[in-house]
Amino acid sequence: MDLERHDFELAELVDRIKENDTRLIALQVPEGLKMQALEMMDSIETETSAKVVLAADPCYGACDLVHDKMQRMGVELVAHMGHSQMNIDSGMPTQFIPVIYDGDPELKAVIPFLEAHRTIARNRLENPVETSTDQDGREKFEDMVGRVAPLTDSKLGLVGSIQHLHLLPNFKKRLEDAGYDVTIPVGGARLTFPGQVLGCNYSGDDPTVGHYLFLGSGDFHPIGLVLHTGKPLAMLDPYSGEATEMGRERIERILRQRSGLIMSCMDKQRFAILIGEKPGQMRRTLALRMKRLLEKHGKKGYLLALEHIGPDLIDFYPVDAYVNTACPRIAIDDAVRYGKPLITPYELEVALGEKKWEHGYQFDEIP
Ligand code: SF4
Repeated sequence: MDLERHDFELAELVDRIKENDTRLIALQVPEGLKMQALEMMDSIETETSAKVVLAADPCYGACDLVHDKMQRMGVELVAHMGHSQMNIDSGMPTQFIPVIYDGDPELKAVIPFLEAHRTIARNRLENPVETSTDQDGREKFEDMVGRVAPLTDSKLGLVGSIQHLHLLPNFKKRLEDAGYDVTIPVGGARLTFPGQVLGCNYSGDDPTVGHYLFLGSGDFHPIGLVLHTGKPLAMLDPYSGEATEMGRERIERILRQRSGLIMSCMDKQRFAILIGEKPGQMRRTLALRMKRLLEKHGKKGYLLALEHIGPDLIDFYPVDAYVNTACPRIAIDDAVRYGKPLITPYELEVALGEKKWEHGYQFDEIP
């Protein structure tokens, strides 16, 4: 990551500290920017009379805000960097600090992917998917990309990760000039900005979008977007200028792994249901519903609450499998690290026969 070209907008934070004469603040920085945390602490302490404590635990999103435990340390304000506000209340005054990357990649590299994907979307519009039957339900489940979600148009959905969202209006214009019908999707309350996506929320998707362009790096958001929407996705990396696509083989491999885990849970009796303690990951009602569902099927469900979730913290419990209600990506991205099957609530419903394979994969979204 090109750290030099990131712009940290500390001015509002400095003003707020001065206005309120804040003495102690907690700084929370995402993993990719932690190398610069000490430099940021220096800037804040030089420009104000506040002292800064770095909240040094891992932080992967605004779901993971420093909450009231820091109050006992005397922290009056949390400065949370690099993520935007969610529909949650952490119990602490929080200043969100935008981080903007000033790279501006060329469109040319991604055009061949967009052309191919628009053709797929148009074909799907002309040849809609037949509702599948019980017999081919499992195959459909594993082979859904670009096939299952109903379409009413073949527009290009333009999305990005938060530090690149300022590029979207200009990219929309450039793409329109290149002949694309472009929309910047607006999502639900967990998302702050048009075109924003999170690893657990793609609520801006709608049936008019036939394919996507993602501005950002890495495959974390792209994997979730394709699992959620079943639509082709091109990726343009503002750091390197390189273009690629989220390959169908990659998604189908994940779906095969998911269906294997579901099947392995069908005859399991004892489940641990994981509840995340982080403010934006806590889904207590969902966890209790999963417990009742297991009981209805004559199985056991033990509720385990954790701030951080990892194999060392749970693998020793005498249960057969885990159902994760915390960050949905723990089950999708990290399942292989655990000694027992780790599945999502939707996957448990499929394993218990409450949901049908043939409806396609349902991504575990936090609304
Ligand atoms: S994907 Fe996970 S870590 Fe990221 S915002 Fe969602 S719950 Fe938080």
